[in-house]
Amino acid sequence: MDGPRFRDPQIRLGNLAAEPILIVCPRCSGRASVTHERLTCAGCALVRVPPEPHYHVWNRPIDPFFREPLWLRADCCGGNTLWAFHERHLDLLERFVAAKLRERGLGNRPGMTLVARLPAWITTAKHRDEILRTIAKLRATLS
Ligand SMILES: [Zn+2]
Repeated sequence: MDGPRFRDPQIRLGNLAAEPILIVCPRCSGRASVTHERLTCAGCALVRVPPEPHYHVWNRPIDPFFREPLWLRADCCGGNTLWAFHERHLDLLERFVAAKLRERGLGNRPGMTLVARLPAWITTAKHRDEILRTIAKLRATLS
């Protein structure tokens, strides 16, 4: 269904963080989620509010608010870590990597979008198959 062409949807990591981010629960190691104001785990009923002082950490395989390890993360392509906040983030990465023709869009600040900031190992065509396999493996952990 996906065409060969990918157009940068002009999404920033901060936009994706407006939806619950999946993390590894610090108490039961199950799948928990965080928002900017709360960590909750359906498995063990853990509820936490963010630590003080409350500053955000971005572009690492941890959530920006509590700095817990992301649920969706895996070793990929020789020592790199593929990571995503949630399924929509995973979808975006998959569509980008699967596309043969990529358009980065003409936004006011295209250098700031998530797609524009992807590291070189993700944008390299030779890594396409391995990355898509890793994304499929991560997606399987969501069911
Ligand atoms: Zn838990």
